[in-house]
Amino acid sequence: MPARRLDGVACAARIREDLGPRIAAFTARHGRPPGLGVVLAGHNPASEVYVRNKLRTVNDAGCRAELFRLEAGASLAEALALVRTLNADPAIDGILVQSPLPDGMGAEAEQRVFDAVDPAKDVDGFHPCNVGLLVQKRPALVACTPLGCIELLEREGIPLKGRQAVVLGRSDIVGKPMAMLLLHRDATVTICHSRTEGLAALARTADVLVAAIGRPAFVTRDFVKPGATVIDVGINTLTDPADVARIFPEGSRKRVQFSEKGSVLVGDVHPEVEEVAGALTPVPGGVGPLTVVMVLRNTVTAAELRASGKAGL
Ligand code: NAP
Repeated sequence: MPARRLDGVACAARIREDLGPRIAAFTARHGRPPGLGVVLAGHNPASEVYVRNKLRTVNDAGCRAELFRLEAGASLAEALALVRTLNADPAIDGILVQSPLPDGMGAEAEQRVFDAVDPAKDVDGFHPCNVGLLVQKRPALVACTPLGCIELLEREGIPLKGRQAVVLGRSDIVGKPMAMLLLHRDATVTICHSRTEGLAALARTADVLVAAIGRPAFVTRDFVKPGATVIDVGINTLTDPADVARIFPEGSRKRVQFSEKGSVLVGDVHPEVEEVAGALTPVPGGVGPLTVVMVLRNTVTAAELRASGKAGL
């Protein structure tokens, strides 16, 4: 039997609906909606799409999201100055700096800019204060992608307590916070990375397997225990016909899409996993929409915490 499809679009719509009363109450009480400032430096095409989605989602929900652009040649000092201005603006509750920053800002730029965001406005959950609060199980603002994954698991009734969870990937923005969120729900968590030995066998111990490695269709059926829940965080664009032919069967919808568009999206999980897993997120339409709606939720949370004087440490 094919795996149950964990529909991120439908789940994100329900989360948006649930946020409606909180947004209305905040707006009525404070005479303004929760505000988000999005910083976009340069014109990376993927970033343009992500930012447009985030702005639309936040504005459509009745909050106020505003875009602050920096040119591709802007300096790190300019980026830091913009973040300081947004930190000081009382109508801005959340700040999101779209990654990646232009190379010209230097290797340390992202760390410096993320660290400069007021932790009370850090809707990305990247600031060391918010990471520390998460580790101590006092979460305030948590990274949007893992937060979206956990919300999906909970809303879909996937049991976590006492279960084996394996997270493939240990990045600061996905793998590590994902592992923490699972641990705090009493899962027994294994974190794997590029130096892990016996990766497939470890992954096969998982009742819940989260793939966040950025390798197209890397997780094949040998990685998956029959009936396991698989969350595919990866978003990879295939443009090479040989890759497409290797991954997707002749006549499949993805092959047709590729012949029409010249590119196709695939996650970190191979499509054949659908035959083994108990439940699986699709790509696209799985984790992506949840990440976007969590930007909205974190904006509302940041606004409420700031207004109640409970933000920060
Ligand atoms: P990242 O910073 O590049 O981290 C990748 C992680 O995967 C690293 O920890 C790396 O190990 C590990 N890894 C790489 N190759 C591996 C292999 N062959 N075996 C085992 N582990 C391996 O990536 P990220 O930012 O976490 O993103 C991961 C994926 O999620 C990407 O496809 C990204 O586009 C996608 N993503 C999606 C969303 C969404 O909204 N759906 C949001 C964020 C990211 P080392 O630490 O040892 O190098």
